[in-house]
Amino acid sequence: MSEIDAAQYRVAAMPYYRPVGNETELYEAAYAARMPLILKGPTGCGKSRFVEHMAWRLDRPLITVACNEDMTAADLVGRFLLDLNGTRWQDGPLTVAARIGAICYLDEVVETRQDTLVVIHSLTDHRRMLPLDKKGELVAAHPDFQMVISYNPGYQSLNKELKPSTRQRFGAMAFDYPLPEIEAEIVAHESGVAPAQAAKLVQMAHRSRNLKGHGLDEGISTRLLIYAGRLIVQGIPPAEACRMALVRPLTDDPDMQDTLDAAIDTLF
Ligand code: ADP
Repeated sequence: MSEIDAAQYRVAAMPYYRPVGNETELYEAAYAARMPLILKGPTGCGKSRFVEHMAWRLDRPLITVACNEDMTAADLVGRFLLDLNGTRWQDGPLTVAARIGAICYLDEVVETRQDTLVVIHSLTDHRRMLPLDKKGELVAAHPDFQMVISYNPGYQSLNKELKPSTRQRFGAMAFDYPLPEIEAEIVAHESGVAPAQAAKLVQMAHRSRNLKGHGLDEGISTRLLIYAGRLIVQGIPPAEACRMALVRPLTDDPDMQDTLDAAIDTLF
């Protein structure tokens, strides 16, 4: 087997992360215990950024997998490939992470079919092993390996729930959009927009979040606020930036768009 270049998975520079509570201490304790973690919370609220920051802090390589419903166990674990010299085994991201002692982050994990997700079970209990059945190899996880998964519990759907047998292998941390002052600080930092404008963008997000369950599946995320801020920094008038970055991506419903557009006009 060729050596894996772990350096490519290192987080080179400190990812900016504004703590909201004691989440960094909690994560450090969970990592010290090599406890697998679930990060749950709405989309675009900082879960992925938090993991990047923690990987940097703990000086561990980070391997992120964006999950989708077509993903198979082989996409995670690996498969035999055909090349000029015959067949060759190629490790999947989960196997690479287990071998090199990375933090393996499965993003939006409920998108994955339950039978696919079962492959993480033996890595997330006392065994810390990954059987590569097709290859006939049992990989013992590196002592520094940690499994982290994230999902958004807001999308209520029966077939998009984690099985109890999966959940009960993890500790969990709940994330949410931060308090308005902190969220404005993040938006200003990440987009370069003036603090007063950032505060208004956050107010707009709050109005949309109040409409969750009343015509909107989800409110405006911190990520979208940052996009709006960046458009404003480019010289786009704030109301137009908000329509493009906050409202149009959020909903196709014309009535809801009108409601949100009206809210923009009262703010800007
Ligand atoms: P999620 O993984 O929850 O969908 P992300 O981590 O991608 O969301 O967050 C979206 C963006 O919001 C990030 O790229 C980052 O710019 C910003 N962000 C959100 N929360 C924070 C935070 N606490 N500190 C720094 N940036 C944040």
